[in-house]
Amino acid sequence: MDEVVAKLFQIYETTPVLVSAYDGFDRLRYANPAFRSAFFVELGEEPLWSELMRRNFLLGRGTVIRNPDFEAWLFSTQARRGKAGFRAFETDVVDGRWFWMTETVQADGWMLCIASDVTELKAEDRAVRQDRDFAIKTAHTDDLTGAANRRYVMARIDDMLDRPAEPRTVLGCVAILDLDNFKVINDRFGHLTGDLVLTDFARRIQQQIRRTDCFGRVGGEEFMLVLPNTSIEQANLIAERMLAVVRASMPFPERPDFRYSFSAGIAAGLESDTVSSLYARADSALYLAKVAGRNRIHIAELPPSQAAIA
Ligand code: GH3
Ligand code: MG
Ligand code: MG
Repeated sequence: MDEVVAKLFQIYETTPVLVSAYDGFDRLRYANPAFRSAFFVELGEEPLWSELMRRNFLLGRGTVIRNPDFEAWLFSTQARRGKAGFRAFETDVVDGRWFWMTETVQADGWMLCIASDVTELKAEDRAVRQDRDFAIKTAHTDDLTGAANRRYVMARIDDMLDRPAEPRTVLGCVAILDLDNFKVINDRFGHLTGDLVLTDFARRIQQQIRRTDCFGRVGGEEFMLVLPNTSIEQANLIAERMLAVVRASMPFPERPDFRYSFSAGIAAGLESDTVSSLYARADSALYLAKVAGRNRIHIAELPPSQAAIA
């Protein structure tokens, strides 16, 4: 086995195929010479994926990013990056090469990325393949905020509940986050301002999650977090930290006293849950957070038959 590992490593060090591995925080932990040369990484450097992308964008090299608003591109890409088990797509770099990029994600969040040069391959079909990639992205993205959409979030809850587990263990948590008195914000400041608040909220929350967590918009001013392998205590801490960040947010510099908040309902996902039973518990918890006065988090009770495990 050791011999195989050593051989594999030697091959990675010489192949023209781009090989890289990221940890659950999306920090680059291994990159072979072909990858380092295509994306301008020094030997021994371990940048976050977002740092690497930003740096190359600013220097006009690396991945071709067609959206002139880099931060909007980054946000929307991170909303769907490295969450599901496997993904493949076509991507190009500034020097004109095209790659077929695959992402394989482990349950612990580590991700292997392998990219082969397909510049010469069926270039005439490239537009079709790009349309396919664009259609997949659109089917998973919320138009207004660029966050993941309801369909994508529900699929991630399904993945989380599908992982093999002992009966009665917590597989992770979900939280429904609903903006407080949002109707009043719309009525007082107009729908456009309301839209900007939704976007501000989405950006602030997504900045705080791990790559393997999922965050998306599931309704008008209702959002959802999916936190695999996370205890209810951890989920509560994460949500409290998010609430502190949102309370302090000033989305409109010209209106420094404008503030907003959200309420959240958190529920722990058990092996016996379905997407809808888990959603329903989080929704009831959200309701209790609202009636208790909003701007707070409520944790759902476990179903009575499972309460002993808490
Ligand atoms: P609560 O604290 O109980 O959640 O009160 P609320 O006013 O936030 O909740 P309610 O469900 O009464 O109203 C939600 C409002 O969100 C009403 C709707 O017009 C607004 N809304 C839904 N989608 C959008 C959107 O895309 N943009 C904007 N600006 N407003 C939206
Ligand atoms: Mg609301
Ligand atoms: Mg609502």
